[in-house]
Amino acid sequence: MAKTPNKLPFAPNFIRNIVDQDNATRKWGGRVETRFPPEPNGYLHIGHAKSICLNFGLARDYRGECHMRFDDTNPTKEEQEYVDSILDSVRWLGFDWGKHLYYASDYFDKLYEFAEHFIKTGKAYVDSLSADEIRQHRGTLTEAGKESPYRNRPVEENLDLFRRMKAGEFPDGTHVLRLKIDMASPNINMRDPAIYRIRHADHHRTGGKWCIYPLYDYTHCISDALENITHSICTLEFEDHRPLYDWVLNELANDGDLKRPLPQQIEFARLNLTYTVMSKRKLIELVEGKYVDGWDDPRMNTLVGVHRRGYTPESIRLFCERIGVSKADSWIDIGMLEDALRDDLNERAERRIAVLKPLKLIIDNYPDGKVEECEAPNHPQKPELGKRKLPFSKTLYIEHEDFMENPPQGYFRLSPNAEVRLRYAYVVKCVGVEKNKQGEVEAIHCTYDAQSKSGTAGAEARKVKGNIHWLSAAQALRAEVRLYDRLFTHPHPDAGGKDYKEFLNPHSKEVISAYLEPGLASAKLEDRFQFERHGYFVTDLKDTKPGKPVFNRAVTLRDSWTKHDPARAVR
Ligand code: ATP
Ligand code: MG
Repeated sequence: MAKTPNKLPFAPNFIRNIVDQDNATRKWGGRVETRFPPEPNGYLHIGHAKSICLNFGLARDYRGECHMRFDDTNPTKEEQEYVDSILDSVRWLGFDWGKHLYYASDYFDKLYEFAEHFIKTGKAYVDSLSADEIRQHRGTLTEAGKESPYRNRPVEENLDLFRRMKAGEFPDGTHVLRLKIDMASPNINMRDPAIYRIRHADHHRTGGKWCIYPLYDYTHCISDALENITHSICTLEFEDHRPLYDWVLNELANDGDLKRPLPQQIEFARLNLTYTVMSKRKLIELVEGKYVDGWDDPRMNTLVGVHRRGYTPESIRLFCERIGVSKADSWIDIGMLEDALRDDLNERAERRIAVLKPLKLIIDNYPDGKVEECEAPNHPQKPELGKRKLPFSKTLYIEHEDFMENPPQGYFRLSPNAEVRLRYAYVVKCVGVEKNKQGEVEAIHCTYDAQSKSGTAGAEARKVKGNIHWLSAAQALRAEVRLYDRLFTHPHPDAGGKDYKEFLNPHSKEVISAYLEPGLASAKLEDRFQFERHGYFVTDLKDTKPGKPVFNRAVTLRDSWTKHDPARAVR
């Protein structure tokens, strides 16, 4: 009988196919070495998670290595704060770069040496046109570029000028070093790209050592080669840069400075997620304009933000696996991210009771001062997680929306003369309503059936349709709960010509004082629970104090956005 083939350890995708082929031809002797190369100029966001899971995931699955490399070639925008946070986020996602932590700035000497090499071999020149003039000379997609009058400077003059650029003799913007490739190339990236510019600025790692800095395209490919990267995976907008990537490395390999095989650039489609903005510039603007409470605001799609919101690393990895990797640009519905969290937490989060918008319920026929215990399972499908005891007494809180004085047909919760089961406790019947002067319901009165307690034989005989949660008023723990929702009301806030800030969801954060079951007083940092009927909640990383938890709603139990109605956002 034919043997069932083993299940693939991971889903195939076009990048894995390339790696499989390379391994079959022994291109790199079976070695797989990838890298994740952020620029330390902001916090990582959920889009970066796709790249992290892809690069580190390949290394993991092919028993290779993934390097953590900071692309830190722009001294004016980069900061140690960002480096630290990026490293924390990658670690938080569950990945480990081992000894492979690098900075492009580690290669500044080497990059400089190669630049002189390009000059000496007549393949680079110092251009003294202004930035504007260079732009005018560049041409367009349909028109060839024009050669700079400085293009044919003699090697000695180029070398002298470049060394003086390095020595700090010239102000910013007066000269650049350009590769001499082809001003008529149909690919604009090949029209003598600049590879060094003058920037009199301190660098977060090299301090004041340099006043010329290499540009991204030049730096990136050489960094890959110096680190013996095999597959250099980047997003689609770099497809047109690949000829330059290959040109630089081939030239250096031809002259014996680099060894073959050279790393191979492979492009994939970036993650676009609905109801979010992904550009660093916009994320910075949201923080600096105080539209959110900082980088780690639980509504931000930064990794520090989703972490604080309650997302688990497992849920993000699951999401990245589910969306897959392709070459076609597309939008992913944010519901998929939320679903990944629900699926993860549904399995592992213990259930607890919280009353978010309380209404007092008084059981007229229950003895004053009596407190009894009811048992509730910690997880409905996992008896091994045990049970806990909830105090029950005459005065309870229920959810305000679980009572309606004039209910529509099909409303099975409480209303005058209706019966419901108080989950894990008794069946009660509503016998009266107390109102304030404005006519608003302030409390309701019920009677209970003492024979109907859950878990007893009497309960079996007392089937009722409605089933609502409750807390005993005297013992309930009052706590701050933050109900977070999507930051934007529009699925594509930054498409369509309008300012994306016009689509900020005014209901994306609601802070309430809720009642929680008393055991939650001992909740620890980052404990996650399902509050029955409300969603998944996590203790806030910053504001939770011993004995005084603050909870964030990570996600509701179901997607309430299918109608895209912001008014329904806060329930
Ligand atoms: P910038 O506009 O500053 O270049 P960036 O988002 O490209 O922003 P990088 O720090 O250069 O930031 O990104 C690091 C890596 O993450 C790159 O390899 C980049 O391709 C990848 N990346 C960035 N955004 C996404 C995204 N939305 N989906 C997938 N990968 C992404
Ligand atoms: Mg980038």
